[in-house]
Amino acid sequence: MSSIYKKYQLKPVINASGRMTILGVSTPQPEVVEAVNLGLNHYFEMQDLVDKTGAYIAGLLGVESAVVVSCASAGIAQAVAAVIIKDDADLLLNLHAKPIHGPCEIVLAKGHNVNYGAPVATMVALGGGKVVEAGWANECSAEELAAVITPNTAAILYIKSHHTVQKSMLSVAEAVAVAKSHGVPLIVDAAAEEDLRLYYQLGADLVIYSGAKAIEGPSSGLVLGREQYVAWVKKQGKGIGRAMKVGKEGILGLTCAIETYLLREKESGEQMVAKMRPFIAALNEIHGVSAKVVWDGAGRDIARTEIAFDQAALGRSAVEMVAALKGGPIAIYFREYKANEGKVEVDVRSVSDSQLTTISEQIQQLLKEKLL
Ligand SMILES: *Cc1c(COP(=O)(O)O)cnc(C)c1O
Repeated sequence: MSSIYKKYQLKPVINASGRMTILGVSTPQPEVVEAVNLGLNHYFEMQDLVDKTGAYIAGLLGVESAVVVSCASAGIAQAVAAVIIKDDADLLLNLHAKPIHGPCEIVLAKGHNVNYGAPVATMVALGGGKVVEAGWANECSAEELAAVITPNTAAILYIKSHHTVQKSMLSVAEAVAVAKSHGVPLIVDAAAEEDLRLYYQLGADLVIYSGAKAIEGPSSGLVLGREQYVAWVKKQGKGIGRAMKVGKEGILGLTCAIETYLLREKESGEQMVAKMRPFIAALNEIHGVSAKVVWDGAGRDIARTEIAFDQAALGRSAVEMVAALKGGPIAIYFREYKANEGKVEVDVRSVSDSQLTTISEQIQQLLKEKLL
């Protein structure tokens, strides 16, 4: 394995940032790898594979219908195309070329119009949609969302994510109520969320997950929801979906990953806290560095270590520390959203105990170098 790093001159990475696309997201369990391998080594009637794995996943989750797609971004684009194209066979093949006569506006809260690594609005545009923002940068109520719905509205899009503004935003349940009272579908992007049933049960018509994030599958995505809407998503394979094709290995890998994900005893936030304790103690020994437990800002059961770097004591800002740790012989990646406030977060889910030791040693080493 280390030969891969050598052969292509790649740096080893400690991923303390969570499920991050820039580092390859996650490392699937052996049974998922086996399912991918099986997929790679056999032929299938592909339509049957798509339909039957989708039905199997739907059965596991207690939802009407489901389909595996290439990633959550592809899920957003194809869900948007689905609610705009519906059964229009001509538009399916000519979304790029023909004027859209039916509703094509996708309404979302302004605070949900984020960049998660690529902009939400880009995916909406790929699906033929036109973004219409509701509310303000810092707030969107149910009334503010409802106010921008017109006969041109094709769907409401709700982004359930830590990337979005969290304060003064309507809930998914409130978005469902607005969608129902206006007779428009609700699409929920729950890419990194852990509950595969909740948003469907709340009443969303389509819900989108990233296959490699919480589910820890191969690069893939899951779209689930009401029968008719999922059927329209599936049709996109003959249109824009072809540019986002998912292979048999991805389909079988994700189906297996969902099944094991549902059975697996999840590492609890409390277990993460226990794992972090010696690490936090070691960090607090370092002059100018302080560490403590913080809980996930989006409300998931994830505990992380917050490290604060005291710039006055260290002569280095958190931003400089982050850059130096990435630049070392082993690239160490933190969650750096608050680096400009002097803090970073360590997500320990993909970090071994010995790697935690490496991290605290690297920090100590860097600060020592500074003193010389
Ligand atoms: C990660 C993410 C996506 C994209 O998921 P991919 O599977 O990488 O395409 C979309 N929306 C949100 C909120 C995300 O966090």
